[in-house]
Amino acid sequence: MPAVFVGHGSPMNAIHSNRHTMSWSDFVSGLDSPRAILAISAHWHVPAVAVTAMPSPRTIHDFSGFPDELFRVQYPAPGSPELAERVAELLSPEPVVRDGEKWGLDHGTWSVLVHMFPDADIPVVQLSIDARKSFAEHLAIGRALAPLREEGVLIVGSGNMVHNLSMIDWHREESGFEWAEDFDRWTREVLGTNPASLIDAVSHPAYASAVPTDEHFLPAVYIAGVADAIGSTGRVITGGCTMGSLSMTSFAVG
Ligand code: ZN
Repeated sequence: MPAVFVGHGSPMNAIHSNRHTMSWSDFVSGLDSPRAILAISAHWHVPAVAVTAMPSPRTIHDFSGFPDELFRVQYPAPGSPELAERVAELLSPEPVVRDGEKWGLDHGTWSVLVHMFPDADIPVVQLSIDARKSFAEHLAIGRALAPLREEGVLIVGSGNMVHNLSMIDWHREESGFEWAEDFDRWTREVLGTNPASLIDAVSHPAYASAVPTDEHFLPAVYIAGVADAIGSTGRVITGGCTMGSLSMTSFAVG
């Protein structure tokens, strides 16, 4: 089973169809059906390593100011307490919180999965991004998760390589500022050669603009960790910047 990083962009992508959302569903059409999905979403960024361990995770609408239609979206996929335990085992001796009620599936996860698996019939577990950890530690967690691929689990990271909401330019639908395009191009080069070097992003001249906060970038580091563990590189499944300061680049490994 490959692993994939998806640039999710605006929550509206959940109810829109465009070249990016189509690339997400195209990616799935070439796969055997996964046994379960482990999702690492930018929107569960907390000071802990946690997994959703409930049998029926709720759909979380963790945004405001969007149309009612978006708030009506439900993604009623079952959870998988069994996969939650397996993740905790793979990350041992790291203490992993089994979340039985607090979280669920946030829009980083469901806005993507509604396109990839519209029937919502494959069990989904979310893994949090521990805000206390270094890039190297996130990469190591990604590496530790790699064996799940052999167990029929699709690992999905969901964020954005470039994510600077304060600089959004609504007039630029299909392009980015020069610094955004530069940074995005750099990530694609690194993924195609040595994915583990993604953690060197901090020394890129555009890093501070492209990654003003790191929660949207980190899911890509997890998938880079998977690539590193299996000696693979990333292949871009869709790419490019939008609205000046967002990158929709998505990549698969394995
Ligand atoms: Zn987001």
